[in-house]
Formats: sequence, structure tokens, C-alpha cells
Amino acid sequence: MSFVPKIGTSIKRQLEEREDIVLSPYAARNKHSRGRRTPEPEDTCDIRLPYQRDRDRITHSKTFRRLKYKTQVFLAPTGDHYRTRLTHVLEVSQIARTISAALCLNEPLTEAIALGHDLGHTPFGHAGEVTLNELHPGGFRHYIHSLRVVDFLENDGRGLNLTLEVRNGIVRHSKGREDIFPSRMGERAITLEGQVVRLADIIAYVNHDLDDAMRAGILGPNQVPSAISTVVGERHSQRIGTMVRDVIVETLTADDGYLHISERMLAAITELRGFLYEHVYRYHRVHDEFEKAQRIIGELYGYFLEHGLVRRVGGEWLEQTENREQWRDEKYAHRMVCDYIAGMTDRYAMAIYEYLFLPTPWSAR
Ligand code: MG
Repeated sequence: MSFVPKIGTSIKRQLEEREDIVLSPYAARNKHSRGRRTPEPEDTCDIRLPYQRDRDRITHSKTFRRLKYKTQVFLAPTGDHYRTRLTHVLEVSQIARTISAALCLNEPLTEAIALGHDLGHTPFGHAGEVTLNELHPGGFRHYIHSLRVVDFLENDGRGLNLTLEVRNGIVRHSKGREDIFPSRMGERAITLEGQVVRLADIIAYVNHDLDDAMRAGILGPNQVPSAISTVVGERHSQRIGTMVRDVIVETLTADDGYLHISERMLAAITELRGFLYEHVYRYHRVHDEFEKAQRIIGELYGYFLEHGLVRRVGGEWLEQTENREQWRDEKYAHRMVCDYIAGMTDRYAMAIYEYLFLPTPWSAR
């Protein structure tokens, strides 16, 4: 059976009909979406369903474009081949869509969650996150901030008004060093597509961080413990393929509406993640840069809190003093400072640090 798009009937209706025929019973369907925070008319051009619109809103956002200058692991890497936060997100999206396609899940929903999941990441990766978490009275978690970006900060403070399924997948994606599968059901994403992104995130980062660590000379090709490489493979593409295939086969076998992975593969991924923490994330050269980045974020935070925000407008740095009265409200000031710093790229944070704290040499006449 093949699908032939027809002219003269609604394109959206045709897309919905196709979802009914090709998607698994466990997949999310656009017509069953729990909707947006603020109801709005459907796509007036009649070409996209809600999850496609969500994906496009994320891709067209300014926060998404800034991910290209945010650290993944190696701070502001000068080498062109290191991952950035943007390429990480693209790799997560690709892996998640491969799993979704094989399980007949909703690919545009998977893609929207994957592309949006790290929008709340700070400059300098986890160094920025740890520092903001220490300084902001309400704490700071990048996945909660990702939701804040799409709900409030993007689109000049109006937010992107995404569907509940995408928002839920974004806020439930993170696992830190905790269990790869959340032990409590309530912590899982409400859609299988959201659960796929959570798993695709770790599959992407353990593999690309290992690859980047080898590129940086921190690890040699034979340093990965054989207990891991015998299960997941010796080469980068082989490792990703083995993990992805395991998830697909185990989930299809269980056929219960949840995502599954074999015990053996879960143990290997968990061990690989532990290995990376030990030998890469805590490696002294990486860690030294981590501490420098923390210092930059800490000093910017203190300065802004005391003096108000400074922004680059055109080629100039300008102090924003119009909210002086409100700035005396500590809660408000902390919130503004935290949002502002979290949105910065690495290079913007370094430029503003240089402007505020480093002397400018007088030029000779
Ligand atoms: Mg991620």
C-alpha cells in the first residue's frame, strides 16, 4: 500500500489519517494532543500538524541558534571537530528518530523534544550549571530552565506556546548520574517519544564524549575497558548502532508500551558513563578549565546583582538601569541575572567578562 497525497483535501487531515495507519498504538498522535498552554488556531497554511509546528518553532528560535557557541565538554573548543551543544542536540535527534522510526512512533514529536531538550543549558556546560545552582536562591537545573525558555523567555518573553507532550518530554529528559531509567514511574515522560529522547541523550553523549576525548588525546583507542567494548563494540558507529538496535529489539519484544533495554547493554552504558566521569570529566586539564569557567560565571553573577545588567547593543556595552526600583527586589534581581547568564554563549560570557574585569590597554597615538 502506498500513500499518494491528494490535492483538494486538507493536507493536515491527510497527515492525521496517515498517522492513524502507520503509527504504533503506543505512539502519540497529534489529534490526541493535550494542547497548548494558550489555545491558538491550527496552522493556517494547512501544511503542518502541531508537533511539526513545535519542532519548527524550536529550530527557528534564537536560543537554538546560540547552542552552537555553547560548550558540550571541552570549553570553547578551538578545534573545529569537537562537539558543541548544538551538534550534541542534532546527534540526539538523529538517534532518537532512528529509534522512533523503527518503533513506528511519532517522529516530529521525537524531533521536537530532542531539539528542545537542552535549550536551557548555560555557557560552559556543567560548570555553568553547577555555579548557577549554587548562586541562584531557587537553585538551577538545565532541564527545568529548558522549559522556562520555551514557556517564558523565547519570542521576546512570550514563549513558544508548545504542546504539553513536547514540554513534558523536555523537562523529563535529564538523568545526571542517576538511573538511566527513572525508578519512579512519575518521573518518566508521558509519551514513549519522550522516553526515547531521554535514552537517546545518553547514547549520544557517552559515544561522542568518548570520541572527543580520543580526539583531545585524553584517552587512547585501547583504553576503553574490554568489558565495555566487547558488549558495545570497538568503533564509534558500531557502538551507537549496537545500543540503538538493543533498545529497538528489546522494546519490540516486550511490546508493552514502555521503552526497554537489555540488562547487559544497560550495564555497559552505565559503566561507560562511569568511565567517562573518572577519566574525562574529572581529568585535570578539563577540570582546570571547569574551575576557570565557574569563576567567570560567579563574578558576572555578583556584578550584575549589584550593578544591574550590562548588554551588548550594536558594538557597545550598555548598562540597563531602567528597572532600578524593581532591582531592589532581591528575588526579581536574582531571577533576571540567572536568566541572563543562562542564555549566554561561552564567547559572549567571556567578552562581557573581559569588558567588565580586564583593563583595556591605551592605544598609542
Ligand atoms: Mg542533552
